Amino acid sequence: MERLVILGGGESGVGTAILGIKKGYDVFVSDFGKIKNHYKEVLVINGITWEEEQHSEELILNADVVMKSPGISDNSPIVKKIRDKKIPVISEIEFASKYTEAILIGITGSNGKTTTTMLTYHLLKKGGLNVGIGGNIGKSFAWQVAEDQFDCYVLELSSFQLDGMINFNPHIAIITNLSPDHLDRYDNLYQNYINSKFRITMNQSNDDYLIYDADDVEIKAWLSQNKVKAQLIPFSLTQELKEGTYIKNNKMEININHEELNFDTECIALEGKHNLKNAMAATSVAKLMKIRKATIRESLSNFQGVEHRLEKVLKIQNIQYINDSKATNVNATFFALDSMNSPTIWIVGGVDKGNDYAELLPLVNEKVKAIICLGLDNRKIIDAFGNIVDVMVEVSTMNDAVKMAQRIAEKGDSVLLSPACASFDLFENYEDRGRQFKQAVQNL
Ligand code: ADP
Repeated sequence: MERLVILGGGESGVGTAILGIKKGYDVFVSDFGKIKNHYKEVLVINGITWEEEQHSEELILNADVVMKSPGISDNSPIVKKIRDKKIPVISEIEFASKYTEAILIGITGSNGKTTTTMLTYHLLKKGGLNVGIGGNIGKSFAWQVAEDQFDCYVLELSSFQLDGMINFNPHIAIITNLSPDHLDRYDNLYQNYINSKFRITMNQSNDDYLIYDADDVEIKAWLSQNKVKAQLIPFSLTQELKEGTYIKNNKMEININHEELNFDTECIALEGKHNLKNAMAATSVAKLMKIRKATIRESLSNFQGVEHRLEKVLKIQNIQYINDSKATNVNATFFALDSMNSPTIWIVGGVDKGNDYAELLPLVNEKVKAIICLGLDNRKIIDAFGNIVDVMVEVSTMNDAVKMAQRIAEKGDSVLLSPACASFDLFENYEDRGRQFKQAVQNL
């Protein structure tokens, strides 16, 4: 019996354990933190052995294969010891993909993964496919492979998950865009992170497809220096493409496998240029999967977006409040500010991951009338924008931020929470930050 050791007893770990037991492995789950009660119950009911708040080497280093949860760094001592013993370390997606014949659609990139994954899923499901959604979203992929019978999966894949791939081969891959993120896990080398994203295509053959942003300089540079077997399906906001998807005269033009079709961009419910890119990527998948045009059109027009991503909360006294709490880096905030059509009170700040605010200056200059800094250390924001914005206030709770915004805003303005920073100085996570924002707005 092969021994499968799982590091991390969260959604992906427990899902892998369930699938592992079903496939006849001797399974052991080890978590250095605490395992949530409902996961413990699942492990116990299924007769799976586990430990928490420790990693017992004698129970781990005898593994034939280790599944590491994406949250655990390669630099952690236990992972180093496992690698020293030459035991393969894989991700949940790698493990589970071996046990399904379903068509896999993998979506990665620095920003837009969740939105593109959910929109793609929506298009395929409304198109009548028997499709599941997984990766960083909802029920783990491994758990679904163990219990469900989908013909197709749309998977959101982080670079950490891609690092644990060996044979994973999506029929359709998407790289939404590239900007520096998580470099602490990549020896501070942007190129390492980029290479990691491109692992999504390394096992693809010429029957498969790679959809990507043709306006992205890093993606283009990588593709010019490396060979890819998959058929390339670019998308672009700025150039007409012979093969691929682009925008012209307010239409999304699609030209894939010598078939052409188009959609009025007005019919797309999602707002902002970045979402037009996400829509082009998702629609390319729908076309490859042969969804009917009328169904795609209807689905593009009724997909309302994802919580905490440019989410319209309420309009109060003709002031629109928008929750973009998921914007944890400068690139995401760039597109949020870019999509604003009215004078904006901008709530920004948190834990800075090495931000360079220079690229935001023109947009802030044009659109932002006041900045509310919501973080423990706001110096960099004040240094970057102090000279170009008249009103600059520091607060330390979400309630104060929202009340202050209301005081400053006039009819027709917008109040945008788009922090460009991580949340854990003042909040549990970005969801907590977004919910507190919405609550505070509702209390006005
Ligand atoms: P991810 O899952 O990659 O973090 P999300 O869809 O959750 O991506 O969006 C994260 C943030 O980035 C949100 O603030 C969203 O408005 C913004 N965003 C979404 N799509 C894009 C894109 N294509 N380019 C840049 N920013 C984007």
